[in-house]
Amino acid sequence: MKPRKKIYLDYNSTTPVDQRVLDEMLPYFTDKFGNASSINHIFGWEADEAVEIAREQVADLVGATASEITFTSGATEAINLAIRGLCQANHDKGNHIITCATEHKAVLDTCESLEQTGYRVTYLPVDESGSMNLEDLQDAITDKTIFVSLMHANNEIGTIHPLKEISRITRQKNIPLLSDATQSVGKIPVNVEELGVDIITFSSHKIYGPKGAGALYINKNDKPDITPILTGGGQEKGIRPGTLNVPAIVGFGKACEICAKEMESDSSRLRLLRTQLESELEEMDGIVFNGALNNRLPSMTNISFRNIDGGHLIQRLRNLAVSQGSACTSATHKPSHVLKAIGHSDELALSTLRIGMGRFTTEKEIEVAIQTIKEVIPRLKLLAQ
Ligand SMILES: *Cc1c(COP(=O)(O)O)cnc(C)c1O
Repeated sequence: MKPRKKIYLDYNSTTPVDQRVLDEMLPYFTDKFGNASSINHIFGWEADEAVEIAREQVADLVGATASEITFTSGATEAINLAIRGLCQANHDKGNHIITCATEHKAVLDTCESLEQTGYRVTYLPVDESGSMNLEDLQDAITDKTIFVSLMHANNEIGTIHPLKEISRITRQKNIPLLSDATQSVGKIPVNVEELGVDIITFSSHKIYGPKGAGALYINKNDKPDITPILTGGGQEKGIRPGTLNVPAIVGFGKACEICAKEMESDSSRLRLLRTQLESELEEMDGIVFNGALNNRLPSMTNISFRNIDGGHLIQRLRNLAVSQGSACTSATHKPSHVLKAIGHSDELALSTLRIGMGRFTTEKEIEVAIQTIKEVIPRLKLLAQ
């Protein structure tokens, strides 16, 4: 028997490469394979030109200028570079970092590793919607605080942090604000000037570009000091040395260009699909919609089911590729730290689905998803008794 085709509803984990992106990339694997740092011949010039076009496209999507963008291998690397680089460069100024309990592991694990070497980290709490309290931030800042790291949109529950209000506080205190914008870029408008952020990080593979490319934006006016974590050939102004991944960067650029044009229509279509999904499921017994319902990413929903046997949740939803909590935490079967932070018990956290829709999600697929969930969940209730 042929296995049934899965319906992909995990766009917050990764996305397929858009065909238009792939077409743009392909020549850079073969004909135009040059090293962007080779300054002596056409092969190098061609690659370098392509990288600089991509840099413009990436910058445009977030309202930055090209010179403010540094290419990395992804958001995780950009986050490590920003956090570790800020710590090293500001060693004399202090040893205190402020972040939030619901950040991505790329931020949390980096902060935890710095705690081992003497840094002090404040993890701000959130309420049941995943929103933070600005007074908590204000109170946490000390004269030893070297930066604040708060994500834009949460990857599990979609809650959006009010960066504009946050940056008003950090700018007043003259502390750099770093924001992991991996989930918001390409889905909702992100403008670094308007938001007042000093550093943001984001990734190609979350927005229909290839894996292996990411960006670090560093504001050129207040230019926070960042010490590089790699040493080498001086690429990317020495901030991130190493031969550039030209095909991936070209794809990342194209992906950003497409998002700039299509984000608005994609997002309004997906918002409607989500409304359909949520209103059909709403009537189910024991259902809980997580996140800030009026202030979250438009393309996703995160749903918990009370009193079900969460252990069998994913197996039973066989035809749906969804995530139980976050992708990384579900690999270890630990209840998600985000769901714990919004007050869920371990049991409820494990009885949770993240449904992430995207550019290629169809109405038909959502209809099947609704039907499957309505069929499967009541049976898991019986198992739990
Ligand atoms: C996916 C993701 C990351 C990690 O990005 P990579 O490019 O895969 O390293 C970091 N933060 C958030 C919020 C994410 O969703």
